[in-house]
Amino acid sequence: MHYVSTRATSASASRNPQEFSNILLAGLAPDGGLYLPAEYPQVSSAELDTWRTLSYADLAFEILRKFATDIPEADLKILVSKTYTPQVYKNARAGDAAADITPLRVLEEADGKTLILQALSNGPTLAFKDMAMQLLGNLFEYTLAKDEAQLNIFGATSGDTGSAAEYAMRGKRGVKVFMLSPHNKMSQFQTAQMFSLQDANIYNIAVEGVFDDCQDMVKAVSNDLAFKARHRIGTVNSINWARVVAQVVYYFRGYLAATSDNSQKVSFTVPSGNFGNICAGHIARMMGLPIDKLVAATNENDVLDEFFRTGVYRVRKSAETYHTSSPSMDISKASNFERFIYDLVGRDAARTHALFTKVETHGGFDLSGAPGSDGDEFKLVRKYGFQSGRSTHQDRLATIRDVEDDYGITIDPHTADGIKVAREHQVAGVPMIVLETALAAKFNEIILDALGMDAVRPAGFENIEALPQKFIVMGADVAAMKSYIAKNTAL
Ligand SMILES: *Cc1c(COP(=O)(O)O)cnc(C)c1O
Repeated sequence: MHYVSTRATSASASRNPQEFSNILLAGLAPDGGLYLPAEYPQVSSAELDTWRTLSYADLAFEILRKFATDIPEADLKILVSKTYTPQVYKNARAGDAAADITPLRVLEEADGKTLILQALSNGPTLAFKDMAMQLLGNLFEYTLAKDEAQLNIFGATSGDTGSAAEYAMRGKRGVKVFMLSPHNKMSQFQTAQMFSLQDANIYNIAVEGVFDDCQDMVKAVSNDLAFKARHRIGTVNSINWARVVAQVVYYFRGYLAATSDNSQKVSFTVPSGNFGNICAGHIARMMGLPIDKLVAATNENDVLDEFFRTGVYRVRKSAETYHTSSPSMDISKASNFERFIYDLVGRDAARTHALFTKVETHGGFDLSGAPGSDGDEFKLVRKYGFQSGRSTHQDRLATIRDVEDDYGITIDPHTADGIKVAREHQVAGVPMIVLETALAAKFNEIILDALGMDAVRPAGFENIEALPQKFIVMGADVAAMKSYIAKNTAL
């Protein structure tokens, strides 16, 4: 299996196809594009049948071996077995089986319509990002050990990504994590999750500023290529291919758990921000999984909903980006969207390059086919199953209350965006699976607003705020940051 850049024309810097291990530690391709498989591996109906009885880990192995063809299968098998075990995904809600890793729960069956919740947030940091990041931690350790190499991960977080990365990399040989977060801006729970880690290879840096200041510092350091190379700095942001492909597995799992034979279809609704999660659903569908609709749910930051309604992709300025009560979906542009557009325009890399250059120069593009637009490929969007919807703060509160009253379970505000939009797209005869992207305990402030009571915390998280914290506070000063990294990465 080879990987190509979405911008790889014969003249471009990334025309050489890459192996999985080569792009594992890479972010963007040298030409600025994103990596995708040269073609999607296909899964036959007969093969899908043989997967119906597999454990999550064995299913993950069957899928990942089609993509990570340069990792010896015996090694890959060990890596996925230690990643997807009930000991890691032990935070299932009462009544769900931790051994399922991503247990399904039918919320409602009426008039031929079935609404299902697939829990993806039972891992160590209570958000779906663990599903991919835990695998990444084990893959990094494995490849670094082979080369006796070191990797220093440098990133910025507003909450979920940073904690998932730190819990995945803590104690891993050859890896250090430097994670910037805005000082005093994360929820108390998120802060405690990250800062209570005492592992020597984890460096929490609270920056006096907002999330954008943190991200600007990461960009400034990343743009200094000499510094990056000298200090072996890498990233684990949402465009990382290994993260996307790890997420493909739970779409297969959800489908197989919700159906009894392959003539049936299901739809998925996905609370979306950077388009990483739902992009994995698109890939599962391209591999032959019988998915009917893929519904992107957004909050007030509705860049994606606007595109899937109109064909116009218009990124937002930071002043136009709202701080909402589903903060992990507060994005101004969707960094994985280029992967889908590449497929939508018939895998035409020159055209993908032109469209995303226009995003840089003009803030977006228009594929609606209207006079003066950039193309008419929007008419193909439904062929790929995509639909969308948005929700507001009031919708979230109302949905959290409804779900609590009707089904007796507490959902987090991002999942509430999903349920609200899913209900607008349900059809009889096709089960609708909503992906649960975080557990409510992580966003207790909103749960208190909606329900007037605290979210239940999984065992072990009861007193997390009282644990000793390890972090340093730093101004938004790039030079100071560089010397801190240099000092702490010296061998
Ligand atoms: C990251 C995140 C999302 C958005 O996922 P994308 O892959 O960026 O679309 C949604 N909900 C929660 C809780 C998240 O942490």
